[in-house]
Amino acid sequence: MKSSIDRESKDILIVKKKVSQSLSAAIANFCFPQHRVSWSNCVWNKFLSPSMSFFSWRLLHGFQPTDDILKLKGLRGPSRCGFCKSHEEIIKHLFFQCSTVKKVWNCLIPKLKLETVQLSWNDFSLSWKDWQDQDLPPIPYITAWFIWMAKNKIKYEDIWVAAATIATNCISYLQKLYCHGKLPDILHSTSHSIPRKIKFALIHWDPPPKGGIKVNTDGSFSNPYAGIGGVFRNNNGKCLLYFHSPVIAKDPLEAETVAIYWAMFMAQKCGFTSLILESDSRVLIDIIEGRLPTPWYLLQ
Ligand SMILES: [Zn+2]
Repeated sequence: MKSSIDRESKDILIVKKKVSQSLSAAIANFCFPQHRVSWSNCVWNKFLSPSMSFFSWRLLHGFQPTDDILKLKGLRGPSRCGFCKSHEEIIKHLFFQCSTVKKVWNCLIPKLKLETVQLSWNDFSLSWKDWQDQDLPPIPYITAWFIWMAKNKIKYEDIWVAAATIATNCISYLQKLYCHGKLPDILHSTSHSIPRKIKFALIHWDPPPKGGIKVNTDGSFSNPYAGIGGVFRNNNGKCLLYFHSPVIAKDPLEAETVAIYWAMFMAQKCGFTSLILESDSRVLIDIIEGRLPTPWYLLQ
């Protein structure tokens, strides 16, 4: 950036005595007042989760360990962008210039209610003012966070994440902010952003016939965690046995299947002969009763 000195004009006082800022900061603020940005508000705010805030803070301070930053710190090694595989992993490429990442931005921007789409895309600190003018300062950091997460998934887990998936993750996050009243409705498609009304249905537990035992099983799945549980009760509703455990499963159906497997296993060990099994997985019941084909991985 060039700065000229007007030798004809008189000197003026820039820094008064007893100010808190340094001389360099005072001169910089005086010369470039348009660059005064409250970075703390930009990073620590209600829109970003603590992880996102730390990520943004590291990004703005040049601490985020992209390959170019690691090189500057002496950790030199081979570098390749996980998305396009044809460029070194440097900040500008990873978050703005990569062909895959451009698709993320291109998917995301049309979904936002922006007055103009002529935003600068090459630097977080320089593009900040454009986003601030749109009253959307957290968007670049939220997007960068999901790009960074996808990059790690590709690099360290060898799992491909498409640009459309990254954009969808960003949009889902923004919808969540809107649903919690933290963000105005900035998404064009508001049908998804209106909180869905949850329907409740009262379900009765019917006891088994006298002398019989009923086991109710359930499997839960929230990637990558899964768990199972079950409870055996007699016709008086008395609990005879229950179990619960974390398990390894690849989807909710497998978790439900594992729950039934262990319920049957325990019933056999305990000698429960007159047994009724109830599961809340309609698909699994249809599979067991032969109305649906069995997925190959459940046969293992
Ligand atoms: Zn790339």
